[in-house]
Amino acid sequence: MKEYKEIYVNGSWVSPIGKDVIDVVNPCNEEVIARVTMANEKDVDNAVKSAREAFPAWSKTSVAERSALMTRLSKALAARQDEIGDTIAREMGMPAPLARMIQAGLPIAALDSFVSILNDYQFEYPMGRTTIVKEAIGVCGFITPWNYPLHQIMGKVAPAIAAGCTMVVKPSQIAPLNSYILAEIMDEIGMPPGVFNLVVGAGSNVGHALASHPDVDMVSLTGSTSSGVKVMQAAANTIKRVTLELGGKSPNVLLEDADFSTAVMKGVYGAFLNSGQTCIALSRMIVPADRQKEVAEMAANTVKTMKMGDAFAEGMYLGPMVDGNQQKSVRGYIEAGIREGATLVIGGPEQPEGLDKGYYVKPTVFADVKQEMTIAREEIFGPVLVIMPYKTEEEAIEIANGTVYGLSGSVWSGDIERARRVAKEIRSGQVFVNGGDFDINAPAGGYKQSGIGRERSKYGLEEYLEIKALIGPSV
Ligand code: NAD
Repeated sequence: MKEYKEIYVNGSWVSPIGKDVIDVVNPCNEEVIARVTMANEKDVDNAVKSAREAFPAWSKTSVAERSALMTRLSKALAARQDEIGDTIAREMGMPAPLARMIQAGLPIAALDSFVSILNDYQFEYPMGRTTIVKEAIGVCGFITPWNYPLHQIMGKVAPAIAAGCTMVVKPSQIAPLNSYILAEIMDEIGMPPGVFNLVVGAGSNVGHALASHPDVDMVSLTGSTSSGVKVMQAAANTIKRVTLELGGKSPNVLLEDADFSTAVMKGVYGAFLNSGQTCIALSRMIVPADRQKEVAEMAANTVKTMKMGDAFAEGMYLGPMVDGNQQKSVRGYIEAGIREGATLVIGGPEQPEGLDKGYYVKPTVFADVKQEMTIAREEIFGPVLVIMPYKTEEEAIEIANGTVYGLSGSVWSGDIERARRVAKEIRSGQVFVNGGDFDINAPAGGYKQSGIGRERSKYGLEEYLEIKALIGPSV
């Protein structure tokens, strides 16, 4: 078993002042795979100090310099792509082939996308007699989750590097191992000391210390909405910029003229990717009432094609929940669905047959789900799909928007213009139209309680920039 006893601060691996040690557990078999020494608030102080000291020189580097470093970073990540994928498969349970492609592949794609954005970006331009100058915001604190751990880190680190910011990263303590690989690579490629710092620790102390630190200019969290509230409150006293990528309960609207067999199959696969532990999961399928039975049958048949098991076993689509707490929580939701009168189509709260060890949950589909039910309202973050019937297009839109969240969505119709029209009615940051695939170049982020700000694209870069007006004399 590997022990991780150091954090990465000011370009060096150092022993943290914090002394707490936690286990990292493989959720497929409940075995401890690593031990990690956690940082504390004093380590955050040191990391912020190093980021502050590095900021003046780093923020003045040229676009060419930053772009070259980002390209080196991307190549070095690509050289270790399988190792990164397998590490994430072990620490959070996603089947390894998928983890190599998605968990390790997306951060590389995100970096490459930001290299292009950086190379084309106008940091300075005239506006009448004023010159607009876009400058790096300063020292950033990044707090990230375990579900797509490196992808979520890179969603912040790549634009921050591009902008000329320096940063302190606090990854999820549940799946931190990938972040040590990232720090190793930062070291190898010659990232100047202090630009990238890694402090692994708990949210309640290290995360809180970053969010409240007077010398941090911006804090960005990807995580649950409840953590978003705490981070915003902690950041308030120092008026720092806050961006939040939070939870979702995203609708997948099937209009009656859609291709149902494709829409249902794609919808179920999407909802259950990463065993439903995906912020943009389309977890509510909204269907014409008179087609609900047919949809439920198609969904159940799709579920039956999915294999669940160890991340390194052949042909798996579904892995376990990340830990015992998550497993308990998801099972609790399934029990609530049954108790509140939804129709259980397939699945249930029991441990799946043949998987005695590991935090598995049966892929579960409910039908006849009504707006007021717990499973229709709350983010479950597990393999649970709810089918909600509607009678008119207006009602479908009302159900789609009947949530405190607004992260993602989807609309299917035989008529693309109709699908786009309905998509515009959905109050969320992204809407997939007729099965549109994930786009690394598209901005992502939430309306309502799904967050503040955007990641990816030039809008993602601009979160890390201040706008300065150099005002010239009137002529
Ligand atoms: P979480 O909120 O429990 O933890 C996220 C991070 O916040 C962790 O690093 C944690 O240590 C830290 N944290 C917790 N309490 C904190 C506090 N008081 N102050 C500062 N930091 C604190 O979330 P999770 O369980 O790791 O991830 C799942 C959640 O993340 C889901 O709700 C999911 O929808 C959301 N998510 C959103 C996106 C998105 O892009 N919108 C992407 C992935 C995950």
